[in-house]
Amino acid sequence: MAARAQTLAAQLARAADDPIRTLVVGAGVAGMAVAEMLRQQGWHPVVVDRARDDRAPGYMLALMPMVDSLIADLGVRDRYLAESVELSRYRLRDRTGREVRTDSLAAVVDRYGDYRGISRSSLQEVLSASGGEVTFETTVAALVEHPEGVQVRLRTAETETIHDFDLVIVADGIRSTTRDLIPGSGPLEKVDTGWGGWVAWAEPTDDDEPDLGEEIWGAGFLLGTYPVKGAIGAILCGPAEDLAAGPQDFVRHVRSQLRTSSPRIESALAAVTAEPDPYYWPLDDARTARWTTAHTVLLGDAAAGFLPTAGIGAGMAMESAWVLARMLAHAPEVGLAALLAEYERVQKPRVEAAQGNSRELARLMFRRSRTLAVVRAWVMRAMSVTVALGPIVRLLQNPPDPERAVAETEVRAAR
Ligand SMILES: Cc1cc2nc3c(=O)[nH]c(=O)nc-3n(C[C@H](O)[C@H](O)[C@H](O)COP(=O)(O)OP(=O)(O)OC[C@H]3O[C@@H](n4cnc5c(N)ncnc54)[C@H](O)[C@@H]3O)c2cc1C
Repeated sequence: MAARAQTLAAQLARAADDPIRTLVVGAGVAGMAVAEMLRQQGWHPVVVDRARDDRAPGYMLALMPMVDSLIADLGVRDRYLAESVELSRYRLRDRTGREVRTDSLAAVVDRYGDYRGISRSSLQEVLSASGGEVTFETTVAALVEHPEGVQVRLRTAETETIHDFDLVIVADGIRSTTRDLIPGSGPLEKVDTGWGGWVAWAEPTDDDEPDLGEEIWGAGFLLGTYPVKGAIGAILCGPAEDLAAGPQDFVRHVRSQLRTSSPRIESALAAVTAEPDPYYWPLDDARTARWTTAHTVLLGDAAAGFLPTAGIGAGMAMESAWVLARMLAHAPEVGLAALLAEYERVQKPRVEAAQGNSRELARLMFRRSRTLAVVRAWVMRAMSVTVALGPIVRLLQNPPDPERAVAETEVRAAR
């Protein structure tokens, strides 16, 4: 198990004397990452999550090098490498299953850091390696911000109680409900692709290539297979109305389109049909107009939720958690509100650039037309994965600098 279940009373008692009493809502990728960073800095954030526990098997994540600074600061790199596999190649197949191209990812990996495949549950274990306390089955029922802080009504399985915090970090994911309690977070801008996807764990095959992520961009379907330690994460996507008939029918339809298959493709399709009711993701996203107030901040998917098309949502959530925690270390001297405003100024454009890249890819990937699929395969023959991920590669070329952002905050305050 990743996080350690703790009572709310014990967490609150430890946080009482902190200079910035902090509540983290949501112990997913972003919430756990920021909480553990703050704990390393000597703070005692109170972390709550709606889930009963964190035992869900989760899905596969490909993590790009922007997570490396966080992993290094948490001192968990050895564990991270042990729980993940290196992704060094990407293969694209066309609508019939024929190979379009196979790219080495060395240009990204060697220059900027690690590119790893890991299950979400293993990542949570890595992030919470040094303790990771969470009070489960707890949500925010109400939140009132005032000039000195935030009054929060926490709802546990048994009771509702009111508590004062200086800072609330809202990290409850793409369908955040806590975000709606903050006046001024602004309207949500959403993209709904009209597609959905089933996620399943497939058995690796004997001839499998454990460093290879592979996608079939079909006409009216997409099959992705991505290795993690000891398994292949599979996602089978299609237009929501076509998926309504269920996995058996849709997989039959996909098989009818393929002229070339492989043991990995067969294993992935078998995994999707093995579950009577495989986990279904609606393929939509959301972007919040404003991330911060004087005492609250949206983090991870709650700020900008991602389509999984570029494999970058968790990466950006972890980068944001790292930047935020590093900046917050200076909050007692520099001032919380000014730091939060500066954090939003530097990090929001980065996250939205990555989100924009995911949206562009979705427009290319989620297509029903066969003619378009043929043209797309021709175009993709000339386009490497690093070109397709251009805006994200540019983020890697220009990493964030939280210390500079703190200095900038001080300069602005002095003006
Ligand atoms: C199928 C799929 C594949 C993906 N692949 C990749 C990939 O390859 N690479 C990548 O970087 N990203 C990928 N992503 C995106 C990535 O998973 C997300 O961007 C990332 O998990 C966001 O982290 P988060 O902490 O903001 O949200 P989450 O990880 O979703 O965590 C939210 C947490 O909040 C809790 N919660 C929810 N509501 C409440 C509430 N009201 N009160 C308290 N707690 C609450 C939940 O229980 C959960 O623990 C993928 C996503 C999907 C769906």
